[in-house]
Amino acid sequence: MTSKRIARVRQELRNLRLDAFLVTALPHVRYLTGFSGTNGLSLITPRRHLFFSDSRYKRQAQAEVHGATHHITQRELIDEAGRTAAGRTPVRIGFEAAHCTVMQHRLLRKSAGKSTLVPTTGVMEQIVAVKERDEVSAITRALRISERVLDHLLPMIRPGVSELDLAAEISYQHKRFGADGDAFPPLVASGARSAFPHAKPTGNRIRSGQIVLLDFGCSINGYNSDMTRTVVVGRVPAGVRKMYSAVLEARDRAIDAIRPGIRASVIDGVARRVLDARGLGELFVHSLGHGVGLSVHERPRISSLSSETLESGYVVTIEPGVYRPGVGGIRIEDIVCLTRRGSRVLTKAGRTLLVV
Ligand code: ZN
Ligand code: ZN
Repeated sequence: MTSKRIARVRQELRNLRLDAFLVTALPHVRYLTGFSGTNGLSLITPRRHLFFSDSRYKRQAQAEVHGATHHITQRELIDEAGRTAAGRTPVRIGFEAAHCTVMQHRLLRKSAGKSTLVPTTGVMEQIVAVKERDEVSAITRALRISERVLDHLLPMIRPGVSELDLAAEISYQHKRFGADGDAFPPLVASGARSAFPHAKPTGNRIRSGQIVLLDFGCSINGYNSDMTRTVVVGRVPAGVRKMYSAVLEARDRAIDAIRPGIRASVIDGVARRVLDARGLGELFVHSLGHGVGLSVHERPRISSLSSETLESGYVVTIEPGVYRPGVGGIRIEDIVCLTRRGSRVLTKAGRTLLVV
């Protein structure tokens, strides 16, 4: 498994005429090595794969990382890896420009000596975007757990309970149902706060007639789920029902249209046109979706500005939303896997407006 992944990185080494490639983003290190700790780095050359970590992770690395030579060091990993990559004669060393701090870059510049540092973007992002079957099944398992948590949560959503109570329950139940933990801190927003697309939960208590927007996910073996559902407590105002049906139609049309070979911006446009036609386009203030996997947000970005073309094996969210300031917001977020024949929706949770 990992050897196939390393082979793909080596292909990129050839394309970019690199003698070595430093992988510093932890989700990418995990992808290549299986390492689940918080300090690890991979160095890949045409012949070698070296894994760097510190002494806290010596035994864990022995258990998790196979097929790479282990370097346990007390130095900064990038410093040690830079020295190793540079060797005696100057070479071209690629690194992940989006995952290297200024401090790390300084250290690397020093340790690499006369070697050339080549900033790269999107090398690993492109490789991890195309999921293998096991990866899709880990994401699906994480989704199933979040769906169970939603079922468990619905009876708790009633007047008097706070957003923080619900967020804490989501985190607790994720673990109880077998997840490694939350994929990201759960978003629970009630009433007018649901009009903030990424509102943090507060001590606000839920009142009758309010919208409660829930966006949460968990992780299994490092793979994340991501799901949004909108709940109304008590009677549903007619305006909210209208907004909901528009968002659902935007979600349905986008999912009908999604397939390999289509541009991400076209899919974003499909959803946006549905909302425009209902006079809600201005209230759809974010992009339609994003790739999900070892990171909650990864390639591709499904937005009007995206230049990416979707490929078989991509796993993406479709999450149209409308947010009326002072009133509230509606969002529906599902995960879709692109297949050779088209697409498959991985989210099984119902999509009708939840009324409690
Ligand atoms: Zn989400
Ligand atoms: Zn999302």
